Amino acid sequence: MPRSGYRFDYLVAPLRCPRCGLVAEADEMLEMTTRLRAEPNLAYLTIGDDLPVTPERAASAGYVQLRLPGPDEPTILLHTWTCASCGAAGNWAEVVVEEDVIEAIDEAELDADTMARAHFKVSDDSRHR
Ligand SMILES: [Zn+2]
Repeated sequence: MPRSGYRFDYLVAPLRCPRCGLVAEADEMLEMTTRLRAEPNLAYLTIGDDLPVTPERAASAGYVQLRLPGPDEPTILLHTWTCASCGAAGNWAEVVVEEDVIEAIDEAELDADTMARAHFKVSDDSRHR
């Protein structure tokens, strides 16, 4: 945990690990961080919370743009998460944001369908460690 200058918030949800099959707790052990909010403060963000996302914000927050969301389309972010039970670090989750509110956070497979549906994907250098 950083001691000062909070640079990110946590995205949290109970997610099932594809490797060990256990459901991970919705907490910071997921290591699913985002810098989308203007003043991040290590908050736990989950379904129903505000998360402002625009292409400009996503770019400056370290996301890779896969494609632009259509005008009436929810924005889909792809995030990695870590399973605290078995240590698997390459898990993926889809975060659905509609009108700047988180609508869903679900485990995902990083396959062609998921990549075609998503708009922004965390880049490796956005990880905080
Ligand atoms: Zn696991």
